[in-house]
Amino acid sequence: MGEFELIAEYFSAVGARRRDVITGVGDDGAVIQVRDGHDLVVTTDTMVSGTHFFANDDPRALGHKLVTVNVSDLAAMGAEPAWLSLALTMPEINQTWLKAFSAGVNETAEYYNCQLVGGDTTRGPLSFTMMAKGLVPRGKALSRSGAKVGDYIYVTGTLGDAALGLKLQQGLHQVSKKHHTHILQRFQFPSARVALGQALRNIANSAMDLSDGLYSDIQHILHRSSVGASIDVQKLPLSQALKDSCDTATAYSLALSGGEDYELLFTVAENKRGSLDVLLSPYGVGLTCIGRITGVAGKLELKNGDQQFHYQPQGFKHFA
Ligand code: ADP
Ligand code: MG
Repeated sequence: MGEFELIAEYFSAVGARRRDVITGVGDDGAVIQVRDGHDLVVTTDTMVSGTHFFANDDPRALGHKLVTVNVSDLAAMGAEPAWLSLALTMPEINQTWLKAFSAGVNETAEYYNCQLVGGDTTRGPLSFTMMAKGLVPRGKALSRSGAKVGDYIYVTGTLGDAALGLKLQQGLHQVSKKHHTHILQRFQFPSARVALGQALRNIANSAMDLSDGLYSDIQHILHRSSVGASIDVQKLPLSQALKDSCDTATAYSLALSGGEDYELLFTVAENKRGSLDVLLSPYGVGLTCIGRITGVAGKLELKNGDQQFHYQPQGFKHFA
């Protein structure tokens, strides 16, 4: 099997069939009909073997995650995901692996109504780069730079489960049988909060998705918005599975510094809190207020109820 048979077999009909795709996989470039009155949102994520995953990880889960992490960035921008491209580099053609990986990409792309419209296939150390594009009504994209002093800080879902899932997969932490599947799924098959991101367009002052962990990710909002934040660790949303599986200090540390939750972090002005509760309750994702935006630019204050919470952050930096 050569490169072109490979593309035809595994990547030429991936995801939803979108009517706005005039030419998809197979030409020198994809041709897409872009909707009037909208802005295009573009994002890229790379996953490298040995850095983001292990070569023997479940390929279906890898395909799923590659799409999800990209779509999650679009969700954080308030965009509707639409088109994907995939640059795939691998040491050899392994059909069993490709079948499972492309199935993971396919089912996840379809789930988010995205179509794979192109890419590149090369030989080399295993890595994937996906680009995702989406649409947002003109001027309505969410950003990291709009947080205002006094805003309430919210997160969706629960935090820390994915980081525990990684430890579980690596055999570094035990989890009871009851919670095993949930915790592992949260790491291997995360969800992107797409509908919610779009619903936040007229509500949130700022938003981002949580990929590296709350403690380090929120700093981006603080810097780009020139504000500070105060967060109460007692308010961090922790799943029952996480609470049952570790002591409180570990749970807080996973929720603050564990990556790959792909939940949304956003800030809302006082007068929008009512709309938030009313409009977003049908979305089926929990929303938790964890603190407030403050005027001390760049400063993140952690509290444990009324007390100060002393915390030694651990985060991952590629070139630290
Ligand atoms: P070119 O040489 O013009 O860049 P290629 O021969 O590399 O094109 O690719 C042929 C077609 O297959 C193009 O439409 C390209 O976008 C698509 N393609 C290549 N690799 C992938 C992939 N991994 N997934 C999806 N589409 C791909
Ligand atoms: Mg070409």
